[in-house]
Amino acid sequence: MDISSILQGGYQHPLSRSWQARRQLTKGMLMYPIFITDVPDANVEIKSLPGQRRWGVNRIEEFLAPLVKKGLSSVILFGVPVNAVKDGRGTLADDPNGPVILAIKKIRELFPSIYIACDVCLCEYTDHGHCGYLNADGTIHTEPSVARIAEVALNYAKAGAHCVAPSDMMDGRIKSIKRSLIDAGYGNRCTLMSYSAKFASALYGPFRDAAGSAPAFGDRKCYQLPPTAKGLARRAIQRDVGEGADIIMVKPALPYLDIIADAAELASDHPLACYQVSGEFATIHAGAAAGIYDLRTMAFESVESMLRAGATLVLTYFTPDFLDWLSE
Ligand SMILES: [Zn+2]
Repeated sequence: MDISSILQGGYQHPLSRSWQARRQLTKGMLMYPIFITDVPDANVEIKSLPGQRRWGVNRIEEFLAPLVKKGLSSVILFGVPVNAVKDGRGTLADDPNGPVILAIKKIRELFPSIYIACDVCLCEYTDHGHCGYLNADGTIHTEPSVARIAEVALNYAKAGAHCVAPSDMMDGRIKSIKRSLIDAGYGNRCTLMSYSAKFASALYGPFRDAAGSAPAFGDRKCYQLPPTAKGLARRAIQRDVGEGADIIMVKPALPYLDIIADAAELASDHPLACYQVSGEFATIHAGAAAGIYDLRTMAFESVESMLRAGATLVLTYFTPDFLDWLSE
């Protein structure tokens, strides 16, 4: 046998196998998406997302304390108004008594070590369920949408968010948010993480159920990217880098590993996040329940493939599980 034919000597031991990774999964790379409702004592199961719940502000301590003990370092907040009346401008998004602002303050007070990111969008808060304002013909009215999203982001920063993460996909919102953070004195106090390449995916179903954000009519294909759009994704990533994003994100993750790899090349000096979305998480659970694979093995394989593609930060509902698994 030729010398160059033999590779197995290099990975014959568990430790030398672990060295084959360019990047090892650590607890600090995990950001946990959590749903906070406007029912202060809520603790409600989300049936489509195994093990996940909607929590009220009064339950945050019992929810997060055990996870913080296991090494939880960051969360991303999604507000879920279930009682309040939604309107056309998404007033509830940054209501001082709304779930997100209250949760930011509560988490800062209870768990000062936790890094708090906030998803910024209008779809959970508007009566039409779209991510921006609409013209009479149903198209997006870009400028006022961007202005409103920047206003919401700034209000989250003012409440104490360490990071604002616009997921709306309106053109120009990164520049507008960055400008308003800087002008209000938050330029050096708040990170801007852009959902840069967010695709119009079939994998968001369980999230829309969890967050109550399904559009009342139409779809989001005029602002989320077509799944085939590699070039458009590359342009969006480069645009957001140019507009001042501090972190670039690709969403969903597993079907878009090529886009993660593209982002790693195009934004090589930025942290790179990817979102293992609700449908990916639910699919992995469903496959494990059907006996196709072991849940833990598949969870690791999926997230480690994202790291291999170039991600340095993973938003995942598996975070509590990984905190256990990485402690063993
Ligand atoms: Zn949205």
